[in-house]
Amino acid sequence: MPVFDVQQFRQQFAFFQQQPDWVYLDNAATMHKPQAVIDAVTQFYQQHNSNVHRGAHQLSQQATALFEHARTTVAHYLNAAHSEEIIFTSGATAALNQIAFGLMHTELKAGDRILLTQLEHHANIVPWQLHCQRHGVIIDVVPLTVERQLDMLAYEDLLALKPKVVSFSHISNVLGHIQPVAQMVALAKAAGAITVVDGAQGIVYQQPDMQLLDCDFYVFSGHKLYGPTGIGVLYGKSAWLERLTPIFAGGEMIDTVSFINTTFNKLPFRLEAGTPNIAGAIGLSAAINWLQKHNTEQIKNHKLLLLKDFYSGLNAIKAVDILSQPVHNAGIVALNVDGEHPSDVTALLNQQQIAVRGGQHCAMPLFSHLALPGAVRCSFAAYNTLDDVNRCLLALEQAVEILTA
Ligand code: PMP
Repeated sequence: MPVFDVQQFRQQFAFFQQQPDWVYLDNAATMHKPQAVIDAVTQFYQQHNSNVHRGAHQLSQQATALFEHARTTVAHYLNAAHSEEIIFTSGATAALNQIAFGLMHTELKAGDRILLTQLEHHANIVPWQLHCQRHGVIIDVVPLTVERQLDMLAYEDLLALKPKVVSFSHISNVLGHIQPVAQMVALAKAAGAITVVDGAQGIVYQQPDMQLLDCDFYVFSGHKLYGPTGIGVLYGKSAWLERLTPIFAGGEMIDTVSFINTTFNKLPFRLEAGTPNIAGAIGLSAAINWLQKHNTEQIKNHKLLLLKDFYSGLNAIKAVDILSQPVHNAGIVALNVDGEHPSDVTALLNQQQIAVRGGQHCAMPLFSHLALPGAVRCSFAAYNTLDDVNRCLLALEQAVEILTA
């Protein structure tokens, strides 16, 4: 396989030309956008700006065609059975809230169980919890092994309690560990559960195939797939989407309205109240089209090389405690400097223009389990170089020297 040309890839991002001094390793938080995405969004506002689905004029028809084409692009990318299975939301958080709210109203009753994992992002905990408290639904949690992997034996034991819903992330946003998502979905389905996959970190690692994975719901945010912020996707099998109570109500999602009663629009519009993020959807579709021009296997291998070098450099720095396992890792490394608060480390890295994140990364239950105040998270993307790795390692070495002096 030809080697991935990282410089050619990187040149497509204006950010790196305009900010050449920064080493950006905060990709798990959000990714930079290639010019193709910026151009698609700009072109929409410059040439086609109009509202969708409601105009008699040509501009609105063009905007509608672009917006609906974006839906089809996402549907093809996920290999969804129908484009109406793609609901545009503002992000993974909004999508998970819609699922939790929708299922709680229709499917769950007091005494039912929901199964989550110790690794989850708050967006896959709090929406469930809000409703569980009100409806008397019980949350169970899959624990971790000592290697900080999901305990699959415990998972199977908890499935024996017949949860109504099983919801978990494909990739931990803190540790970068890749979960055995296909196996987990298959086991949950065999136990009769509704399956929800949080693909917020998974989407950029691997193109998911909804027919193969066969989960009932899958969610992600556009901004972690080179797309704009404020756009996300809720994929659901039509039969399940039909059963969700809409979390938002208003224009577009209705068929008829009177003060006595409302009847609802068909999918996908029933779950898309109000004016959607039209430019965001177009930008996300541009991101997908752009990404598909690149070889994803080459990208995966490039990230693996970065990770390998990063780990061997880290292992040579005394006083660094690495929380993430190097195997089955999607390119996210959580670490700490012994005895030091992560924000002191990130502040020193920031002084050297190394952008990493410190704290609990919206995963407080994970850090309670680890009995740590947080961690420094370095997350790699395809546009990162070996030079980025080396600069980060050097800055870490210096931070350790300063903090432990
Ligand atoms: N789940 C996971 C695993 C995430 O990493 C994130 C973002 N950090 C979210 C959910 C929420 O995504 P967003 O903030 O884009 O809605």
